[in-house]
Amino acid sequence: NPLLSIKNLVKVYGKDTRALNGITLDFYPGEFIVVIGPSGAGKSTFIRCINRLVNPSEGKIIFDGQHLEKLSGRKLRKERSKIGMIFQHYNLVGRTNVIKNVLHGQLSSTPLYKSLLGLYRHEDKQEAVELLKKVGLQDQIYKRADELSGGQMQRVGICRAILQRPKLLLADEPIASLDPLSANIVMQQLHTISLEKKLTCIVNLHQVDYAKKYATRIIGIKKGAVVFDGAPSRLTDAM
Ligand code: ADP
Ligand code: ADP
Repeated sequence: NPLLSIKNLVKVYGKDTRALNGITLDFYPGEFIVVIGPSGAGKSTFIRCINRLVNPSEGKIIFDGQHLEKLSGRKLRKERSKIGMIFQHYNLVGRTNVIKNVLHGQLSSTPLYKSLLGLYRHEDKQEAVELLKKVGLQDQIYKRADELSGGQMQRVGICRAILQRPKLLLADEPIASLDPLSANIVMQQLHTISLEKKLTCIVNLHQVDYAKKYATRIIGIKKGAVVFDGAPSRLTDAM
């Protein structure tokens, strides 16, 4: 059974910007999917529709048995908490230290007064430290997030998303702001952790070479439509 089924997804911004033009795709547990396509193809809109950061104009999003396009309020938040998100610009709290940034991903399940007091659950703290070690940030745990390099910030972003214990991980251009060396480390770690946790991962990239290196399945999008869906080895010059 697919973990996520997208049926005829359409997104129109304003009067006539058709960012998504009817996308139908199934995603299965454990897949590491890379979505590629030129700037403006609709990659970001596609990924943001899945967790409803953007509201689709038409279509169905069936995730873990729930129709996300129909949910709102508390029910939507509950399903969203099973979807981890990694952003191009990291979205960390700069003046807060690294481990608190990682624990922030768990805010939805920590009572508000506790998180304000910094009273995180012991097992969350332990797992946060484990994850930070795994990505090589054991010496940065109490540093302010804004003292880190871009690559280090994104590795914190990965830890934050994983600590949420999601079923699905969405990453919107996670390496677009990084130099090639840092980009490789981030993709490698994202790939390794996803395999280890048996996560389904959907990553937007505009670099085809990274897609070929890490994806189990590549989806090519142009002008809001799927123009390729298959194994990296089948990717031709069409993209
Ligand atoms: P990509 O991620 O592949 O670069 P986007 O999803 O960002 O593509 O954009 C797809 C199209 O939708 C582009 O034409 C873009 O200008 C437009 N678009 C994206 N976001 C908005 C928005 N918030 N309002 C209006 N148009 C948007
Ligand atoms: P990217 O291509 O890396 O997603 P953009 O610079 O295209 O970045 O978009 C940055 C932000 O502006 C995004 O939130 C996007 O949804 C929004 N955006 C993009 N195109 C438009 C547009 N034509 N009108 C309004 N907002 C847009």
